[in-house]
Amino acid sequence: MMIEVTRVLLQDILRQGRARYPAGACGVLLGVPGDPAVVEASRPGRPASEACAGPSAEDIEAAGREGATRGLAVIGTWHTHPDVPAEPSPGDPAGVETGRVTLIVSVRKGQAAEWACWTAETGLSGLQPVIVRLTGG
Ligand SMILES: [Zn+2]
Repeated sequence: MMIEVTRVLLQDILRQGRARYPAGACGVLLGVPGDPAVVEASRPGRPASEACAGPSAEDIEAAGREGATRGLAVIGTWHTHPDVPAEPSPGDPAGVETGRVTLIVSVRKGQAAEWACWTAETGLSGLQPVIVRLTGG
C-alpha cells in the first residue's frame, strides 16, 4: 500500500507532535482513497491522555462527517510516540481498521525524530509498513 502526503501537511503534523511533547498528539487523516491514497487534510484528535494513543472512535467519526462535506474520506489516523520508536506498539493494531493507515511520529526530547506509516491488511496479523510519497514543495 502507498499513500501520498504533502510536505506541508507532514510538517504540520510533526509541529503538533513537538508542541504537545511530552504528552502525545493525534489526529485523523482525510483524503481520497485509492492506491496511492491521497491525504489532503488532518483533523486534530483530542490530545491523547497517555503516550501512544490515537484518536478516539468518536473523533474518527466526527472527522469522517466533516470530511464528507468536502468530498474527503477517512484514510487513517496519526499519533505520536513520545520517546518511543515509530514502530507499532502492542496496542496499536487494535486502533487501525483494515485498509486504513496509522502514521506514527516518534518525538524525542521535544524533536520529531522519525516517522513511519503502517496499515492493517486482511489476512495478516499486526501492522504492515506503508510507502509514503511526499509531494509538493
Ligand atoms: Zn502507537
